[in-house]
Amino acid sequence: MHDLIIIGGGPAGMTAAVYAARKMLDTLLVTKDLGGQMMWTREIENYLGFQYISGPELIGKFEEHVKRYPANIVYEEVTRLERTPDGIFIVRCGDREYRAKTVIIASGKRPRRLGVPGEIEYTGRGVGYCATCDGPLYAGRSVAVVGGGNSALQAAIELAAIASEVFLVVRGRFKADPIVVDKLEANRKVEVLRGYVARGIYGGDTVEKFVVAACDDGRERELAVQGVFVEIGLDPNTEFATGLAELNGYREIEVDCRTATGVPGLFAAGDVASGPDKQIIIAAGDGAKAALVAYEYLLRNF
Ligand SMILES: Cc1cc2nc3c(=O)[nH]c(=O)nc-3n(C[C@H](O)[C@H](O)[C@H](O)COP(=O)(O)OP(=O)(O)OC[C@H]3O[C@@H](n4cnc5c(N)ncnc54)[C@H](O)[C@@H]3O)c2cc1C
Repeated sequence: MHDLIIIGGGPAGMTAAVYAARKMLDTLLVTKDLGGQMMWTREIENYLGFQYISGPELIGKFEEHVKRYPANIVYEEVTRLERTPDGIFIVRCGDREYRAKTVIIASGKRPRRLGVPGEIEYTGRGVGYCATCDGPLYAGRSVAVVGGGNSALQAAIELAAIASEVFLVVRGRFKADPIVVDKLEANRKVEVLRGYVARGIYGGDTVEKFVVAACDDGRERELAVQGVFVEIGLDPNTEFATGLAELNGYREIEVDCRTATGVPGLFAAGDVASGPDKQIIIAAGDGAKAALVAYEYLLRNF
């Protein structure tokens, strides 16, 4: 029986682990990986203390900090979270289970899929969800990026430095920060197909063709590309907690301003929790808050 189990090893979970360790809580961090979405980020310019740092470098610094303390970390996927009638949490990872008096859910988000023919079949063979990770494989080749937010525009800008041509397929207006839009518009290598949606991805062993259609009249256009990067947003990793925690319309976990859910002893931090802004510094702040609130809860209840 642990005092606290933290689910997820992104900035929220890792920060919570440091704060919990400093309160001497018996803590277990259960995560698929250390780093979370920071692994997909080439340039971070808004985490205080670092004017510029890459995602993997910042993960290294977080990891070093977490491991300064006696950290219990298991690399597993949580498949189910339950609470017994006497208020103990059971964290199930397939056949294995862990028990704790409190839980912080910090499981973040994962990329959303397009849902068009060919997407699943060609994932890893031309279809990707992380331009930062897979972009270098497309040196000198043609690629398309789908989406109109910060991630999509940043992906197009990154790919323009590597690929021979880049199409940016966007349904409507850009929903990115003005500074990112300015950078994109100054980049002559990116051709913006505005008012288009994805229809299908085709090829042989790997991707050869991406079919898009105009939103107004359905007219199709075939793009001869070898890579399609899907950057249309993220879905929260909350499936394992359905039925226990209350979710909002985006399937994020509803929390109050102190990260508490409606379930006593259960807290949620970072991107997985309700709240409008999803950033590393905010996730880290949430993680700190959640660990301190879990500590207070333990003092009062156990
Ligand atoms: C391309 C891109 C660029 C970005 N650039 C910036 C930027 O420049 N600056 C900035 O501040 N923010 C940026 N962000 C946003 C930032 O990365 C996120 O806000 C932040 O990572 C959220 O942290 P988190 O800990 O809440 O979740 P995540 O980073 O999503 O971490 C979640 C963790 O939970 C684990 N997990 C998930 N499900 C399970 C499960 N069932 N069992 C066990 N473990 C599980 C995952 O493996 C992961 O370790 C960017 C995001 C993307 C996608």
